Amino acid sequence: MKLSGEAIAAAVTNIQEFSLHDGPGIRTVVFFKGCPLACDWCANPECISGAPQIGFMQALCARCGRCFDACPRGAVRREENVHRIDYSRCLTCGGCASRCGHGALVRYGDMMTVGEVLDAVRRDRMFYDSSRGGVTVSGGEPLLKTEFVRDLFTRCKEDGINTCIETCGFADWESLCEILPVTDHFLFDLKHMDAAAHEKHTGQSNERILANAALLMESGADVVFRQPLIPGVNDSPENIAATAGFLIGASNKGLELMPYHRMGLGKYRALDMKYHLDGINPCNDETAESVRAAYEAKGIRCTISR
Ligand code: SF4
Ligand code: SF4
Repeated sequence: MKLSGEAIAAAVTNIQEFSLHDGPGIRTVVFFKGCPLACDWCANPECISGAPQIGFMQALCARCGRCFDACPRGAVRREENVHRIDYSRCLTCGGCASRCGHGALVRYGDMMTVGEVLDAVRRDRMFYDSSRGGVTVSGGEPLLKTEFVRDLFTRCKEDGINTCIETCGFADWESLCEILPVTDHFLFDLKHMDAAAHEKHTGQSNERILANAALLMESGADVVFRQPLIPGVNDSPENIAATAGFLIGASNKGLELMPYHRMGLGKYRALDMKYHLDGINPCNDETAESVRAAYEAKGIRCTISR
């Protein structure tokens, strides 16, 4: 039986308003939890796991102890004067986070229905109309929630709201086909052209991703290809040449570079997750500009996302 949009639900970590970097115009961005990749440079580590998670920001903790009493499992405690969460006991009920008045505890991943997300998206309708903006789904990987996205976008289109998806492209082609008729723009990542390097840094090979990218171009969809620019990982002349060759072959000469930054580092600490790029500095303007120029020299229209 097909569920109605009110019944389809997905874990959402954030709904960000007034975004200017996730598609045309002013956009509301919906971040879903769950991703088939785990990129070393991921700036949204709370979106990798599909399950709800509790994060703890040590720097914000006032050591009041209110969260200790709130936990039904005794999972929050102080050990040797250090506040710890025993994740093996945690039910992610969020009781501790709601008791903390200092913002030191946060629950990532609230279940929301399509109707609830749509209500949030509609709130900024006037800004979409004046800027040709709309809604963008991101994550995580929205294609893991194909049914949710298809229903959300169908209802947005009925309302005249522009739709856009940020995707890593690692999905069944059938999933892309399901949302194709109701998706105005695709922001599609090309992280690395070498299959082994792609797998090393993201956990998955790029074969399915590149096949989907080619099929998407053939379908006539509006696709913007983007590349997170990670110094020492994918800025080599070989990768630039391979990416340029692919883009020319796919009849799309545009590429948007997204220079590597470390703004997600605090969330890795909050979630007690290992950060894999400790030895790599953020991508500076000089490096980004030299890579941009290298793409332009190969006939690729290339911009840098700031
Ligand atoms: S989320 Fe619930 S179970 Fe987990 S530490 Fe907080 S109060 Fe305890
Ligand atoms: S309730 Fe918040 S501020 Fe108080 S001890 Fe727990 S995490 Fe720290």
